[in-house]
Amino acid sequence: MELEEVEEIVKKILGNFKKVEFEGSDIVIYVDNPNVIYSNEALLKQLATTLKKKIIARSLNLKKEEETKEEILKIIPKEAGVKNITFQEKFGEVYIEALKPGLVIGKKGLNLREIIERTGWVPKPIRTPVINSETINIVRSLFFKTQKERKRFLAEVGKKINRKIQEKSEHVKVIALGGFRQVGRSCLLVQTKNSKILIDCGISPEPGVLGIEEAEKAFPYLNSLGFPLEEIDAVVVSHAHMDHIGFIPYLFAYGYDGPVYATPPTKELAALLLLDYINVVEKSGHKPPYSSKDVKKMLTHFITREYGEVTDITNEIKLTFHNAGHILGSAMVHLHIGEGLHNLVYTGDIKYGFSRLFETAETKFPRIDSLFIESTYGGKQDIMPKRHEAEIRLMRRIKETIESGGSVLIPLFSVGRSQEIMVVIDEYIKNKNYEFNAPVYLDGMILEASAIHTIYPEYLKEGLQRKVLNNRSPFENPIFEIVKKDKKEIVENGSSVILASGGMLNGGTSLEYLKLMAENPKNLLVFVGYNSPTSLGRKIQNGAREVALLDDEGKLKKYNLNMQVETIEGFSGHSDRVQLLNFVQNLQPKPKKIFVMHGEEEKSIQLAQAIRNITRIQTTVPNNLDIVELC
Ligand SMILES: [Zn+2]
Repeated sequence: MELEEVEEIVKKILGNFKKVEFEGSDIVIYVDNPNVIYSNEALLKQLATTLKKKIIARSLNLKKEEETKEEILKIIPKEAGVKNITFQEKFGEVYIEALKPGLVIGKKGLNLREIIERTGWVPKPIRTPVINSETINIVRSLFFKTQKERKRFLAEVGKKINRKIQEKSEHVKVIALGGFRQVGRSCLLVQTKNSKILIDCGISPEPGVLGIEEAEKAFPYLNSLGFPLEEIDAVVVSHAHMDHIGFIPYLFAYGYDGPVYATPPTKELAALLLLDYINVVEKSGHKPPYSSKDVKKMLTHFITREYGEVTDITNEIKLTFHNAGHILGSAMVHLHIGEGLHNLVYTGDIKYGFSRLFETAETKFPRIDSLFIESTYGGKQDIMPKRHEAEIRLMRRIKETIESGGSVLIPLFSVGRSQEIMVVIDEYIKNKNYEFNAPVYLDGMILEASAIHTIYPEYLKEGLQRKVLNNRSPFENPIFEIVKKDKKEIVENGSSVILASGGMLNGGTSLEYLKLMAENPKNLLVFVGYNSPTSLGRKIQNGAREVALLDDEGKLKKYNLNMQVETIEGFSGHSDRVQLLNFVQNLQPKPKKIFVMHGEEEKSIQLAQAIRNITRIQTTVPNNLDIVELC
């Protein structure tokens, strides 16, 4: 739609207005009093459905910042715990950071409306993290500092999205750029005559520490795009694990300047993991494929959307995120292409089953023609024990180890499994079930990741959400201690549980602890998550009891693994084979074609066979670099 057309429609519906403009995929309407629009639901709905866009109302008459601040503090009750008030003049918005955003909003949004009425500014309540977090500070201050750039960028994106289509697209194809017949470097290009969309752009989690030297094995095949990076219209992100986001800043380092669509929590989690990745690579003496400047550039290009919001990302493609149940903010990607030309669902990583943190993955979509589904645990053997049994086994083994004077090491991905295990430990201790008397140390980025969970309670399961809102969050249980002392001292003192980042023991703090704990047979090493085939974690799972690792002086040293080793399955954030098959069977509507991805080759093939047998739907396993014509 051209701007003139929009103006005409707005005039018809609204009568008076000052100005309209495109901002990303939204339409901003400037009026004297934005409350006229915001307080009239029927009117807002009429505008949104006629224009088929999200409507933002703004005033050009903004009260002075100092006076507005005073007004805000008068309207909002003290108990809300307002920490910061930040003005974003370019957007006519004022961000109110508070311990209790619910009280900032007021009953039925009354406080917010009063602020608009009295000041012209549109208030945006945000939550103060209960756990101090460097990452949240970085992301928020960067956001506030870059309003000029963001305004310019969004206008640009808006112009592109609303370009008139010269000739309708008649076909859709995808190119598998990474993450097919393997776990790692997920990247899928969706291409039509008019649009080029990249879904995910990750790196492989091995050989552990990756520099630009490992490009061949570790990064997506961007050379096979067939066009320069700046021609990509949009990058869509399913969730913030490195195998899905790890290579996005590279796009910005080499010419991409467009939007990155993701859910709000994905933004903070991505900042945490990407900045850490650069650090780890540099420390190891390798060259990272991009710099922190590129990560920051990426962050200013984020456009965040909640589950269920429909958004135009090109002039012919609509994007909707659906809950995937895998980690905080994880989403399945639904693309509606052309007017009914094709509907594609890309699952990313999904949990279709019980977890303590998230609701299970959604199975209802408006339409599905082709489905791209993960297969991490799609193999014949991948049937996991019941969650309840897994929890009891973990708690029992921790208790036994502590009581015999040993310590427990649990290597974890800092985002996802760490919080799940923390919630389990908190729950059992509070219910005096398998209690143990020892501290639980958190090392690496686990606490930072947990802090990010506390600012997005609405993304957590209801019961947990309530605990976070009432300041009874499991992440604040005093049993959890951040590691401030020497690792050696912790290990020598004995009787402790250590949750350390570096899930596959390929690097990270878990490896440091392993060296210190390996030789004592009283200690216990527990795996609760995925280990890639060549990772040290997998080698140990397969029985390796003598490992050569670099010692403190950088010399190769042989370590005897006398400690006990145990794998407890059932905690995964991925669906097991049964859950994946249930997911496909419960999908509404049924897809016409299924493509299996994100799994070791054998597992992908085994899952595809099973899906074919059960559903009779055409199911294939593409290779990396395959071009698949969808329609
Ligand atoms: Zn994942």
